[in-house]
Amino acid sequence: MPGCSPGRRRSRLGDLCADETATLRSGRDCFPAHAVALVTDEVVETLTELSLDGGVDGILLQHPVPAHVDERSAFEAIAPGKDVDGVTMHSFAAMALGHADLVSCTPGGIIRLLDEYRVPLSGSRAVVIGRSPILGKPVGMLLLARDSTVTICHSRTEDLPDLVREADLVVAAVGRARFVRGAWIKPGAVVVDAGYNEGNIGDVAFDEAEQVASLITPVPGGVGPVTIAMLLSQTVVACGLAHPSSGT
Ligand code: NAP
Repeated sequence: MPGCSPGRRRSRLGDLCADETATLRSGRDCFPAHAVALVTDEVVETLTELSLDGGVDGILLQHPVPAHVDERSAFEAIAPGKDVDGVTMHSFAAMALGHADLVSCTPGGIIRLLDEYRVPLSGSRAVVIGRSPILGKPVGMLLLARDSTVTICHSRTEDLPDLVREADLVVAAVGRARFVRGAWIKPGAVVVDAGYNEGNIGDVAFDEAEQVASLITPVPGGVGPVTIAMLLSQTVVACGLAHPSSGT
């Protein structure tokens, strides 16, 4: 791309060494991780530096951060124009109002996947299981924006199987292996399993649900790779926003 190649520097929290984290390459400047930050202030400082660094176009803070780090403070240190995972309050509000350049990656990827398979969303009944700020809530917002009638469920939801049984589209974002059973799924429904649990196991009992669903995403190999593609795509978008005359 003339004038601009998207660059992304990846800084990982926790105990992995730098080399293990340099897994994605998206142009001239994909830097290896250089920081193992341990407290909130250090994380915020690192993200603020990256936000101000003209050589960095996109920033992803891997979720969840270690428990002793204040995740929201860390997210808010990311400049909105570099928020390629759509985690800041600015990005969330812009997405909810339908004005986002950068949306949450996994939710955005789920919508892209549904569009690719021509799943009709307008007028559909969707049940999203999970209400996290990075997944359940934003995917609910994006589905609502596409004129789906959305029910967002969580750990206090009563009669969850009955709610799921009414859904044309089920998005599982719970973080509990094989939580959604095949008997909950309405015949012909579309099932998106965003879960990823230890042992490469999704949130949906795939062997049961595939018997009744018209379409279902596997784990692994479903939502995960689409999320990575979205991340790269949004890094290119962020690069274009930062360098409007570059032609990206
Ligand atoms: P999270 O922050 O832990 O949120 C989990 C949600 O599930 C919460 O809203 C929780 O309700 C709800 N929940 C827990 N137990 C429930 C129950 N018994 N009935 C109904 N709802 C229940 O998790 P997350 O970050 O959203 O991630 C969810 C899953 O997606 C995880 O497996 C994660 O690994 C995966 N994930 C995948 C990708 C990808 O790229 N494929 C990206 C991000 C996350 P409360 O709010 O009431 O606690």
